[in-house]
Parts: sequence; structure tokens; C-alpha cells
Amino acid sequence: MENNNIQGIHHITAIAGNAQRNYDFYTRVLGLRMVKRTVNFDDPGTYHFYYGNENGVPGTILTFFPWEGIVNGRAGTGMATEIGYSVPAGSLEFWAGRFKEHKVKHGTVEERLGERYLSFEDPDGLKFDLIVSKYADDRMAWTTPEVAAGAATKGFHSVTLTLHSIKPTATILTDIFGYELKEQEGNRFRFVTNVLPTASVVDLVEEPKGVRGLSGAGTNHHVAFRVHDEAVQMEFREKILKKGLHITPKINRDYFYSLYFREPGGVLFELATDNPGFTVDEPLAELGTGLKLPLQYQGMRAEIEKALPPLHF
Ligand code: ZN
Repeated sequence: MENNNIQGIHHITAIAGNAQRNYDFYTRVLGLRMVKRTVNFDDPGTYHFYYGNENGVPGTILTFFPWEGIVNGRAGTGMATEIGYSVPAGSLEFWAGRFKEHKVKHGTVEERLGERYLSFEDPDGLKFDLIVSKYADDRMAWTTPEVAAGAATKGFHSVTLTLHSIKPTATILTDIFGYELKEQEGNRFRFVTNVLPTASVVDLVEEPKGVRGLSGAGTNHHVAFRVHDEAVQMEFREKILKKGLHITPKINRDYFYSLYFREPGGVLFELATDNPGFTVDEPLAELGTGLKLPLQYQGMRAEIEKALPPLHF
């Protein structure tokens, strides 16, 4: 892996309503591992959940801010509108059956850009595709008694951004992030980085007459791209500033360092580092089992635990 490049997707963050419903869906129905349970660093009365594979490697991490009672958003332009998970060949029929059994809203198996996929929505209406990837994927999945290795999700395949016009966003992907336009089908343009084989796809869907997305439950908040470390991250910061875009200073998120900027198509992008990772405050075997608080809130643990909605495991 070339360390000075963008290394695909790091994580994707979305908004949920009820915390318990979110936890049950992702850990039980989808069979992901909760790799971190913490609070929103800007709003410590709210959880921040991280779901991923066994060791929580970048490219597998889906995170949520569950806000009880928040109104539903609306997917639309200027937003990440679909999350693609890579699943093993032959598993889509298992998933269709499982979604039916658990009353999960889902489509039928279809094919796009030479890959079979199955669409579904989470309980808040967030849209996903399970995709049998045509790119090599040897990542180890987290497995549960109900979701075994033959079906378990391996991490991200792709993220889809819906845009009024793809050109300004495409320029960021190609000129700064090192992605290439590889394929097109209809109004879907596939950009891929060849730095690594997984979580390497960004699909841009052009909808010139599309309605602008509205933030709320069941919508994506931002897409984080992966950088090796802070030195590389700061090099990208310079490149983004040179394009005339605003970008935040480096922010410590405890499990990675972050920079945020809004790309010209309207989607909030983040650059997040591999270091220090999720084992910085709990061992691998215990990931996600305790409520972890950043340093600035550790003295307020009792009040924070009281304010957070109860969660049953
Ligand atoms: Zn983030």
C-alpha cells in the first residue's frame, strides 16, 4: 500500500433515531461487531456508535449518532445516498431470506456494472447495497451464530454520492485523491483508487433535476477517507486549501485524527488517520463492550451515563 495516498474509505457516519433499535439492527440482523461505544464529542448526551469487523480496521467502519426523536431526513443531491457492503459470492439469497424474516425493507437481486447486489434499508430508512464485489476482497468478516463467514459482510465496497453535476466532485476525487473514472452505467460514474483493492470505490450519480437532500434520521452525515498518518493528512490539507476550499484544523477524535471539508458538490468529507485505532483504550477482545469517554468528559461519567438512553445488549 502506498502510504502517501488516499487509501479508500475510512468510515461513513450516519444519523439514526432510537439507539436501541440501531444497536439491535446492526449487531443482530446485519451481524456487525460494535467496535466502539462512546459519546458525540460535540454533544456528550448523545451516543456515538461504531460498527465494523473484528479488529475495526478502516474501510469497515460505519458510525451513527442516534438522536432520539429526530425527524427523518430525505436522501437527495449533495449527499452520500447509498452505502455498499462487500459480501461473499452466493450469499445474496441468504440475505434476501434474512431480510424477509426480520421484516427489513429490501429489493430483489439485481446487477449493475457487472456486480450482483441486493438493496435494503435500515430501520431509519438509510439505504444500503450488499454487493458481490468483482474486486478481490480477502478481509476477515466478523461472524455471529446467525451470520456465518459464508455470508457476513467484509466491510465497505463503495459509497454512492448523488450530485446535481458530478464534475466538481469528480475533480476532487481525481486531482486530489488519486481516483480514476473506471466505468459508467447510465448516470452512475464509478471512480476507483488502485492503491488498495477494498473500500476503493466511489460512485457518483448525476441527477441534474434531483431534489436536494435534507439531513435527519436515515441519512448520511459525512464520508471519511483514509490516510496513513497525520503527516500525509497535512499534505492533503495543503492540496485542498490550494483548491480554494475551506478545511478545518486537525481534530483529535481519540481513535483517529480528523480534518473536515465540504466538497463542491455539497457532501461533507473527512480525512481520517489509521492511527491510533480502536484498541487505544480497550483490548481487541473487549472492543465495544464499555462506554468510552474522551479525556475531557471523564470527570462527568456519572452525569453522562444518566443522560444517555439505556441500552440493552
Ligand atoms: Zn467521521
